[in-house]
Amino acid sequence: MTDSTSPAPGFSPVQGLHHLTVMASDPQRNIDFYSQTLGQRLVKVTVNFDDPGTYHLYYGDLTGKPGTIMTHFPWPGAKRGVRGNGEVVAAAYSAPRQSLDFWRSRLRLADFGPQESVRFGDRVLRIADPDGTWVELIFDTDDAVSPVEAWPHSPIPVEYALRGFHSVTAWVGQTAAVAELLVGHLGFSEVGSEADPEGQRTRFQGSGQNVGLFVDAVERPGQPRGSFGAGSVHHVALRTRDDAEQAAYLESLTAAAYRPTPVQDRQYFHSIYFREPNGVLFEIATDAPGFPDDEAVDELGQHLKLPEWYEAQRDAIERQVPKIVSREYGVTIGQRELAAAPNPQAAQTQPSISVMTAGRPLGEGRMAAVLLHGRGSTAQDILGLEPQLNLSAYSYLAPQAEGGSWYPQSFLAPIEHNQPQLDNALTTIDVLMAELEERGLKPEQIVLGGFSQGACLALEYAARRGEKLGGVLAFSGALITLEHGGDLAGTPVFMGVAPDDAHIPLERFEKSVEVLRRLGASVDAQVYPGLGHSIDKAELDTARELMRRAASLG
Ligand code: ZN
Repeated sequence: MTDSTSPAPGFSPVQGLHHLTVMASDPQRNIDFYSQTLGQRLVKVTVNFDDPGTYHLYYGDLTGKPGTIMTHFPWPGAKRGVRGNGEVVAAAYSAPRQSLDFWRSRLRLADFGPQESVRFGDRVLRIADPDGTWVELIFDTDDAVSPVEAWPHSPIPVEYALRGFHSVTAWVGQTAAVAELLVGHLGFSEVGSEADPEGQRTRFQGSGQNVGLFVDAVERPGQPRGSFGAGSVHHVALRTRDDAEQAAYLESLTAAAYRPTPVQDRQYFHSIYFREPNGVLFEIATDAPGFPDDEAVDELGQHLKLPEWYEAQRDAIERQVPKIVSREYGVTIGQRELAAAPNPQAAQTQPSISVMTAGRPLGEGRMAAVLLHGRGSTAQDILGLEPQLNLSAYSYLAPQAEGGSWYPQSFLAPIEHNQPQLDNALTTIDVLMAELEERGLKPEQIVLGGFSQGACLALEYAARRGEKLGGVLAFSGALITLEHGGDLAGTPVFMGVAPDDAHIPLERFEKSVEVLRRLGASVDAQVYPGLGHSIDKAELDTARELMRRAASLG
């Protein structure tokens, strides 16, 4: 991969995104989220060609046009993946600007608590889907006419409907290697770069006109690779018009040592696969033949479709795949009744917890910050605050449950319902604190912080423990219970919330401030109109100052 070769003359460059393939767990939950919550059409139900006992589900616009297609392999009971470098971590849909309020409130009501930001001038809402995949909506268009065909049975009004993919985001160690592939070999152009909370974000644009034009690379040098599991994006497919163009890419990518696979027949398109040097798996897929190839547009998604070579085994396959229901079509596919998804809240045993770290190596740091992620995000996410806090005295630690959440089911109520899980979560924090103390850190050298449910747990832990800590940071959280009797004198506490936070009622927030002050804590409580359920820069500045002061005392 020395010099950048342009595609052979006569071939048009890659247009943009074709589809994205993601691993999921429960198929019904997957269908409900993508078709009910997001209003995407289930356009094809087939099986994993390498494992015909599991589904391959495709969602898209009315006909499943390239650039709208999200595909999932749902493996019931699959362990969650952990996001990291060398993979696509987020799929973004394009949405009309006027639909921002609609989507914000729809996602809040569905308990997805979207995080809001601005990226290259456009507003972005990010949520984690039920398996933890980041799905983003980017409000980038005022066009009255959509480049994709809305699905008439969608629960989303057509004027607010999503308009196919906007972009994907890959986390990489080196953006230069992505640029080499996309610009050097596939005809993309680099169109912008800006600082992003996760790293420097660089945007590449394909040559197409309408939909799915962008690939973003976020550079995170030295950060760990992801670990594959439910919620992980397996690969991103770029689109090319036909087999001849694909053959030209196969040849040029082979010459450039990307070692692409031979062409694979994926029934609805033809594919080649290869990795770029950071590890991101790319596919180049043809636009043809497309999804209406083996069933009429009206019928899409209502039947289990099998490739010819599996038809002889259809009965056995139908018995083996889980029973799923498409509510819009009123059809049931598959026969195997899945055991009710294991309810983590019913489990009395502690999940296995690992601790992810950032900042100064433990043992070298004079201070430790224990950060608790929000429900529906991960330890890795909250450790993303470390470079922004940028405090050299601190080691950062974030507990992460293997294969699931270690959190209570609901945030604040009713407490009896949560009791065993709440106790488990608080014990997890206590074990981690005890380990830090064993390594010579005093409680006043430890700052405990969290976002959302992690913030609730941090406050609750501090109040129950009832002794002086280095500090407590609660981003969008409140106390879980209000009866406490310890002594928090000398403990600085920062609490920030939006006045209309869907999870943390303002009254509960204020009552928590009152209780903590009564325990002797010095509480800096801030209400930020327009914050949403997220962490903003003003909060981080205040948190940094609290931590800096704690380090000078601790
Ligand atoms: Zn694919």
